[in-house]
Amino acid sequence: MTTDSELFVFVGEALALDLVNTTVVIRGKQRDLLQTPGDLAQWWEAARHQHSHMDRVRDAEPVVDAAFLRDVKALRDALRRLFTAIAEGEEVPDAEIAVLNDVLSMGHPVVEWQAGQEPQMVYDAYHDEQAGLLLPVALSALKLITEADLTRLHKCHNDRCILLFYDTTRSATRQWCSTACFDRERSLLRYEEKKRSENG
Ligand SMILES: [Zn+2]
Repeated sequence: MTTDSELFVFVGEALALDLVNTTVVIRGKQRDLLQTPGDLAQWWEAARHQHSHMDRVRDAEPVVDAAFLRDVKALRDALRRLFTAIAEGEEVPDAEIAVLNDVLSMGHPVVEWQAGQEPQMVYDAYHDEQAGLLLPVALSALKLITEADLTRLHKCHNDRCILLFYDTTRSATRQWCSTACFDRERSLLRYEEKKRSENG
């Protein structure tokens, strides 16, 4: 049996989108890959590896428990609604922006400058260890919204797939989250064409 952590995908090209993509559709059914605090701990471990240049919050290691899992999912679900609205050209919901702004207020940028090294911008959390995970995700969302080309934000072209991604290709022609989704859609089209030609 496949455990949920084996199903994690990092195809979003942004930390915030990869968190959103922990809700997936498998064989037509929506599935939440973050079922337990342990799932979240594993996702965070993998995400940190994938996004090694993410913004860093000093001395804030979140305690991954049930309450924290709820908070992370609240941010995730708000970001899904927000980015889905953007990708589909709909009005951006104020409530989801408010959730994002709440998380952004958990910390502030500071300069870290150690002798002999380049100065760096990092973040200090005001008083919440949870900022260690939530703030980098929110900052990733902030950068997408304010600095990226939002016409490149897409939902996978496969109707049965709900993954979101930021298209970083030079040609701006990425339509699928993965080659698997591309192949699935292509074989579906072939099947329908075959059926049409048989019936016609
Ligand atoms: Zn897909």
